[in-house]
Amino acid sequence: MSEDCLFCKIIAGDIPSNKVYEDEDVYAFHDISPAAPTHILIIPKKHIAAVKDASAEDSRLLGALVLKAAEIARKQGLEEDGYRFVVNTGDNGGQTVFHIHLHILGGRRMSWPPG
Ligand code: 5GP
Ligand code: ZN
Repeated sequence: MSEDCLFCKIIAGDIPSNKVYEDEDVYAFHDISPAAPTHILIIPKKHIAAVKDASAEDSRLLGALVLKAAEIARKQGLEEDGYRFVVNTGDNGGQTVFHIHLHILGGRRMSWPPG
């Protein structure tokens, strides 16, 4: 828990969120400003600011996060048409919340390259 982290406050329930899934390691919730018909964020409960700050000891946690994201995408009905995972990192990457989060985006065709 980082005292001044928005997503740590969401995990703690201090800031309300529309929860999709929770277990002892990860928390998933709907993005407040959806960029697609389905836009879910999945985060580790451990505060890690960005992927550049993760270490080898986080390998299992981050692997579980990706696999759980795929399971959520399947349960949301996104698997047949496809979906996109996004992890923004740093200023050029467009990261605005400095607690690792994987965006699950689906329900429309995505463009490439991203803007
Ligand atoms: P980033 O730009 O860091 O990759 O993504 C941060 C995401 O968090 C954005 O898509 C933004 O809409 C979302 N977000 C920011 N504040 C809140 C909030 O208070 N609640 C929820 N559910 N999402 C938030
Ligand atoms: Zn945090």
